[in-house]
Amino acid sequence: MAKKTLRDLNDLSGKRVLIRVDFNVPLNDDGSISNDRRIRAALPTIRHVLDAGAVAICMSHLGRPKGDPKQDAIYRMDRVGQRLSELLGKPVKKLDQVVGPEVTAAVQTASPGSVILLENLRFHPGEQKGDEAFAAELAKIGDVYVNDAFGTCHRTDASMYAVPKLMTGKPRVVGFLVAKELEILERLLTAPARPFVGVLGGAKVSDKIGFIKRLLERVDRVLIGGAMTYTFMQALGQSIGNSRVEADKLDVARELLSLGQGKITLPVDHLIADRLDASAATKIVEGPIPDGWIAVDIGPKTIAQYADIIGQAKMVVWNGPMGKFEDEPFSRGTRAIAEAMAGSSAITVVGGGETAEAVEAFGLDNKMTHVSTGGGAFLEYVEGTPFKALSVLDDADERKP
Ligand code: ADP
Ligand code: MG
Repeated sequence: MAKKTLRDLNDLSGKRVLIRVDFNVPLNDDGSISNDRRIRAALPTIRHVLDAGAVAICMSHLGRPKGDPKQDAIYRMDRVGQRLSELLGKPVKKLDQVVGPEVTAAVQTASPGSVILLENLRFHPGEQKGDEAFAAELAKIGDVYVNDAFGTCHRTDASMYAVPKLMTGKPRVVGFLVAKELEILERLLTAPARPFVGVLGGAKVSDKIGFIKRLLERVDRVLIGGAMTYTFMQALGQSIGNSRVEADKLDVARELLSLGQGKITLPVDHLIADRLDASAATKIVEGPIPDGWIAVDIGPKTIAQYADIIGQAKMVVWNGPMGKFEDEPFSRGTRAIAEAMAGSSAITVVGGGETAEAVEAFGLDNKMTHVSTGGGAFLEYVEGTPFKALSVLDDADERKP
């Protein structure tokens, strides 16, 4: 059932809107933000709330704090608040508390059109425990609840689940980002344009079994790359040298290969290296990987073949880099897939933390139909896992077209 969205609420003026955003941005070692995409992705929702004359109370987690204030200083929301303020072009009142008197006072005195940012939700032990007493503290500061944290939608942390659950009687909706993510994923799953091609790579088969199965039911073809290739190759009895493999997942790999018969395409050639290092000696091989060598990327013939198939597709979904792309000499396959998708007129969807990072690093994110802000959430949604965090939000009005 579709969820009610922020657009369905017409009387926000003067309201205090509690927005669960996903400002869990990647950080550099010094705590600076290395990529602000998730902050930018929440701007339409925040701007809408402000333009409607409401107070935007934003809350998010950031990183994995350990509970030691000194070590955790890097996870304070100050820099996120600064960045948000720059992007909005207006002040953001960043609080040092998650809940408590400072929060209550700030919320009570906030004027319409102002922005408050709570401290990192994970600084409170109640957040990840889904604690209801903690959730009640958050729930009482908002007149409206908005979930715009797609990247966290597969979790049931207090701010995602218990808070909206406790806000019975108040509007509880999805923001524009979550609405957009759900819309494109539903399109993938229910009404794909054909030929529909899946491109799958990344580290492990085991992370993605459910995702691959569900995708196999829907796509016309699956192009495999990345380290998962070598688990599939070993399952087929082919030599893989020292390539990354999940030796205990060969049965699963065989099951997927048989489910995907006629659909799954494995690389025909590979870039191999004598060590996992950008300065390693490399060469291209077709077929099995020689002893002592590690496959680090798909080869040029595979690139040409995959680009051609992508070029003929009407819809492409991609998860998982084609090689160890973080090292420039091993990034060609991943870049080529990104370029083929960017250059095609198909509906193109990219999901997965590292895959999205790669596409952005190549400067091609704006050429895709959609780059999901979800890693785990993207995979789980496609797998068909219902999100409890969404189940507690209001359903869309059925009378609406
Ligand atoms: P995503 O986050 O997009 O879902 P994954 O987490 O599954 O992607 O996988 C990304 C990681 O897989 C990258 O860090 C990349 O270096 C690694 N990887 C891909 N291909 C290889 C390979 N052939 N050998 C070693 N690592 C690889
Ligand atoms: Mg990853």
